[in-house]
Amino acid sequence: MTESDREQRHRLRMQRQKTVVDAAIARADRKKGLLLVFTGNGKGKSTSAFGMVARALGHGMRIGVAQFIKGRSDTGEEAFFRKQDNVVWHVLGEGFTWDTQDLTRDTETARRGWTVAQAMLSDPSFDLIVLDELTYPIKYGWLDLNTVLHDLKNRPPMQHVIITGRAAPEALFDAADTVTEMTDVKHAFRAGIQAQEGIDL
Ligand code: ATP
Ligand code: MG
Repeated sequence: MTESDREQRHRLRMQRQKTVVDAAIARADRKKGLLLVFTGNGKGKSTSAFGMVARALGHGMRIGVAQFIKGRSDTGEEAFFRKQDNVVWHVLGEGFTWDTQDLTRDTETARRGWTVAQAMLSDPSFDLIVLDELTYPIKYGWLDLNTVLHDLKNRPPMQHVIITGRAAPEALFDAADTVTEMTDVKHAFRAGIQAQEGIDL
């Protein structure tokens, strides 16, 4: 095959691909508030959500963040986003279950936290809400899944919501518009590397 044959074949293939892509773009003609779920055991769930917070801020949008499990208070994202006028940042959890070791307290904390989330989910001035690590209080039964689904469903129609955390229940997948499962192919922690600034916190 000559060079110009290859060029010609490439051009035809790209033309066909463009037709398919253009048709798909033309079909996607609606806008709505989306529910996104980032789950799985691999790293990148919360940081992906915070990447979207940065993206939304760039468009002048107003963002609410609720952290349901407070792993640590020294993360770069919290320090950075708390300085932004358009971000409201709530820490609603007290720590990992293996740290608190107190079921009643964890349950009360989660329920109190959900009332804060509910307030944001009924406030149309929030364009994007991040419910970080929400899957844990659901998984442990501290929060009623049906209440969560009900409040998500009845939020303002243009409001976007991101839920992060491992082991998201199937019902959340059903309710969501976009679901990404992060796969843990490899993680430096297992090679004895400690959590480092800018990467893990
Ligand atoms: P990140 O905040 O880095 O996006 P994540 O939200 O996907 O991570 P979490 O389960 O919330 O993951 O864990 C938060 C912390 O644990 C982060 O410091 C992260 O680097 C680390 N971590 C995430 N996945 C793993 C893993 N598979 N093994 C060990 N540590 C992990
Ligand atoms: Mg996380």
